Amino acid sequence: MHPVLFTPEYLGECYSCNYLEAKNKFSQQVKHQLDPGLCREFTYPQTGPEGEALTSSVAWLGDAEAEHVLVLQSATHGVEGFAGSAIQLDTLKRLTAEKLPGGIAILFIHVINPYGFAWLRRVNEQGIDLNRNFVDFNQPLPANEGYTQLADQILPLSLTGWDRASQKLSAYRDEYGQSEFEKAVSSGQYEYADGLFYGGTAPSQSRLNLEKIIDDYELHNRRSVAVIDIHTGLGPFGYGEVICDHPPGSAGVKLARTWFGESVTEPALGSSTSVQKLGLIDYLWHRRLGEKVCFVTLEFGTYSVEQMFEVLRRDHFMHRQTIDWGASETQQVKQAIRKFFYPATPDWQEMVLMRGRQCIDQALQGLNQ
Ligand SMILES: [Zn+2]
Repeated sequence: MHPVLFTPEYLGECYSCNYLEAKNKFSQQVKHQLDPGLCREFTYPQTGPEGEALTSSVAWLGDAEAEHVLVLQSATHGVEGFAGSAIQLDTLKRLTAEKLPGGIAILFIHVINPYGFAWLRRVNEQGIDLNRNFVDFNQPLPANEGYTQLADQILPLSLTGWDRASQKLSAYRDEYGQSEFEKAVSSGQYEYADGLFYGGTAPSQSRLNLEKIIDDYELHNRRSVAVIDIHTGLGPFGYGEVICDHPPGSAGVKLARTWFGESVTEPALGSSTSVQKLGLIDYLWHRRLGEKVCFVTLEFGTYSVEQMFEVLRRDHFMHRQTIDWGASETQQVKQAIRKFFYPATPDWQEMVLMRGRQCIDQALQGLNQ
């Protein structure tokens, strides 16, 4: 497959092979283009598999006092960061402060979960799915009876029980239907710390950083804010679905439809490839910015949900023990999860950049009106 709209060289400039390359490319571009006084770095005590330092880089394009802000956020689910970091780099390459409509700035939150990106995991350094971590921890944690029922099948104790466990999962799906099955496995759970889609028992470091970013850049004091959180792994191969989790009928949904058009889907209404989920990152923005914010998830499809659950089960199973990064068994699991969330074929890479540009321009136009 040959790229049609972008040269192979340009795709190579935007996409990276791993976290460290993405981080270095982003830093280089930012250094060359943006005011360092408006950029920030959040460091983490952990390191990557090659000993690399882990940071979330934040950069600002445009007038510091802009009344309207577009926020581009990536790698909420670490390993999904390949697409988001490429879109952010493409945006920096094609837009300058002068090209932005008056009164609008762009805030880049590059890799909010660096541990997950570096170690090719969806979760963070504590095994937490950041996109289930935004619940109120002062309240009783939500229960997920479906997950509790399936926990031993989702992560069997040993590999010898794997096929039997998989059959039981299929039987549950056949009995309750695909949607109920997905809700049980992936809507979020707060009980099994080594399990899939685990929301944690306290705010994660990345959540605290995100709250600080909102404060530092005074996003709650702007007139309007659009957030595009870039993900991969759900939906048709290469298609970018704009998912809106504002409450049905709310100002946020109306804004999303006005800006992004009729392709916007809503999990609460069953129109999305995503089922409804607990503790989404969206909720922080809804809570802090109220009707000023329109938050959407831009979700790029790759392969099937069944394949996703399988690669995640294998990854979580392996991470129950300390792993040897260089071992061939480790690399086999890592290559599978990487390929699932980042197919890396030129056609997929092109579709991601194309749709990314479209949604970013729609948001900029929307903020401008
Ligand atoms: Zn995701």
